[in-house]
Amino acid sequence: MQNNTLKQRLSKVTHVVLKFGTGVLTHHIEQNRSRYFRSIARECRLLQEQGKKVVIVTSGAVGFGRIILSRMRSLSLPQATVGEKQALASLGQSLLIDTYRNNFAREKLAAAQILVTRIDFTNRQHRQNLKATLNQLFAWGAVPVINENDAVANEEIKFGDNDNLSADVALLFPHTLLILLTTVDGFYRNGEKVPHIDRITQELRRHAGDAGNGGTGGMITKLQAAEKMLKAGQTMAIASGQDIRVIRRLLAGENAGTWFYR
Ligand code: GLU
Repeated sequence: MQNNTLKQRLSKVTHVVLKFGTGVLTHHIEQNRSRYFRSIARECRLLQEQGKKVVIVTSGAVGFGRIILSRMRSLSLPQATVGEKQALASLGQSLLIDTYRNNFAREKLAAAQILVTRIDFTNRQHRQNLKATLNQLFAWGAVPVINENDAVANEEIKFGDNDNLSADVALLFPHTLLILLTTVDGFYRNGEKVPHIDRITQELRRHAGDAGNGGTGGMITKLQAAEKMLKAGQTMAIASGQDIRVIRRLLAGENAGTWFYR
């Protein structure tokens, strides 16, 4: 029964937002392997062939900045200040987008960079502009790659996490599937993965610290994103980004992570 509801919802999906966490991406760069980004491009192309509009929300600017700084200056900055983090994001964002751009180009896909802050969703004009840009990029078959503009965002205008940001991107369109790709393969309660959640309760929030596979997963902000999606009657999944083919399994309605829908 539940699976029928999910399949019905998935058949109506027009847009897919893929959010990649820092933990999923950085080790590929640390080990000088960019193959993973090429496989992301292939999944995007597959989705496009199925008629879906695809958006990527990517973290990793600060993480990639750390890699550059340690290679350039042998500096590790474990206790980076806010200003240092903003500068790290600036260093890392260029490597991050370069990595997407180069590897997507090898798969004959154009990656377009968009940097936003919270104001771009709360200000009506900014929001309309953002949506118009996305629609134009979709029409050209390009893949928008969005991150927060960490180099300039201050407390008042920043999301601070890309889980909430990706939900706001997803909610620009009425039939979106949001997939949060992380280091954990779903939401865990008492050591067990929960396959389907239809309501965010206090009890779930208490379990947001639990994680499988030794990861922490930043589940609180993922539940916040899920709450936004559920409230709007939309669909979300949390899944492990380790094997990128999880995306096609999710689109086929498999229990390949934790599903959030009503
Ligand atoms: N915008 C941050 C970055 O690119 C990541 C925020 C998050 O991980 O949620 O490093």
